Amino acid sequence: MEKNFYITTTLPYVNARPHLGHALEFVRADVIARYKKMLGFNVFFNTGTDEHGEKIWNAATKENVKVENYVKTNAQKFKHLLRDLNILEDIHFIRTTDPKHIRGAQKLWEIVSQNGFIYKANYKAKYCVGCELEKTDSELRDNKCPQHPNLDIVEINEENYFFRFSAFQKKLLDFYSSRPDFVLPESRMKEIVSFVSKGLRDFSISRLRKKMPWGAPVPKDEEHVMYVWFDALANYITTLGWPDDISQFNKFWVNGTPTQYCGQDNLRQQAAMWQAMLMAAGLPLSYQIVVNGFVTGAGGVKMSKTLGNTIDPKKLIAYYGTDALRYYVVRHIHPWDGSAVSDESFHEAYSANLVNGLGNLVSRILTMAERYLLGPVDISEESLPEEWRKNLDSFRIDSACDFIWKRISDLDKAINEEEAFKIAKKDIEKARKLVSKYVKELSIIAKMLEPILPQTSLEIQKYISLNKKPLPMFVRKEMIR
Ligand SMILES: [Zn+2]
Repeated sequence: MEKNFYITTTLPYVNARPHLGHALEFVRADVIARYKKMLGFNVFFNTGTDEHGEKIWNAATKENVKVENYVKTNAQKFKHLLRDLNILEDIHFIRTTDPKHIRGAQKLWEIVSQNGFIYKANYKAKYCVGCELEKTDSELRDNKCPQHPNLDIVEINEENYFFRFSAFQKKLLDFYSSRPDFVLPESRMKEIVSFVSKGLRDFSISRLRKKMPWGAPVPKDEEHVMYVWFDALANYITTLGWPDDISQFNKFWVNGTPTQYCGQDNLRQQAAMWQAMLMAAGLPLSYQIVVNGFVTGAGGVKMSKTLGNTIDPKKLIAYYGTDALRYYVVRHIHPWDGSAVSDESFHEAYSANLVNGLGNLVSRILTMAERYLLGPVDISEESLPEEWRKNLDSFRIDSACDFIWKRISDLDKAINEEEAFKIAKKDIEKARKLVSKYVKELSIIAKMLEPILPQTSLEIQKYISLNKKPLPMFVRKEMIR
């Protein structure tokens, strides 16, 4: 039977340049996409940019540029980051200002409306433009959003369209209890169940065009544009060509276990709002929501330009290389819990595990192979360990790495203890057997690294097949400044 797999990142909001949090999500989704391809799946991998809404409108206005140009320039920065991170080239990149996407979002609106889940009412709310979300008084501190204390809360009082979110409380809870692993990790699953259990309030899904025109037009009502979230979430299916191209939709959304990576601040939108919207349209739900933890600066302090503790993925890639960054974000930043990162911890991880651990091992083994073996080792029969698969199946790329690096250090130990170079002086055949064994184990390590560090893995595999010692894969460096 044909095996299909759909995976998407959250679409970054293009009001700022890409940061480490974006890089982290791109790389993790890319590892899973590459892994599924190794297993023989047809993979649809989606990302893109979320380009509507008040925050973007304000940012463009403030910089005095046309908003179309503003979003185009910023979308380009994200495309560059994908390239710098060596993300799969066949990734689909959707921009929510794409006319095809807008038509899809409008179609979704029409269906939800025909099914009776959209109505018009007066909307009075306190709103944080930073979050693009409504805030209750209990969520505010001194009438400011705790996440955006430098922004004023906007009071909205206008006629809007509403989505009948409240109609889906029971359906969502029933669904969650039928699929206890719908959200990963378990703590986030509990959080969303608790949020929905407390009761759902209908939410506004439009804005008056005369106040804020930067949105997808509401069908058959020129006075309104869509609330950015309604339009943005629809990208997960419009990227497949829905509603025009149903074959891709069936292949990957209906039969491809659609998997959505997101940050913890996106949990409600993806695990509840979006699922309710799909229910309202009579469409199949997502299969799994994988929630990344937040990244902070050293000591758990929020990263900020003024504190000078931001980590620029571009800078790190330029200095240490693409695979070094990929390695750091999948292994040294916890998949679910908040993690503190710093240039120091990056440098330490690079030196200890890539220069010394992996790089050193490759050079040791292939030096011996080149010296003692008569030709390349046949590695065609080596199979991949179950534990590596289990970890990647459960999105624990960090644990998969722990497993790989355990094999690296075990192999290092064996080489130290078995002293092939001494044996070679007395019994060359015995030494050749030992070195062949090392090469086979190294080839398994390289294969397991393929979805994680694709470039490095291919290099190792290439030099194994040439039976040659490569140049150092990871060069020892001074700490970045
Ligand atoms: Zn906010």
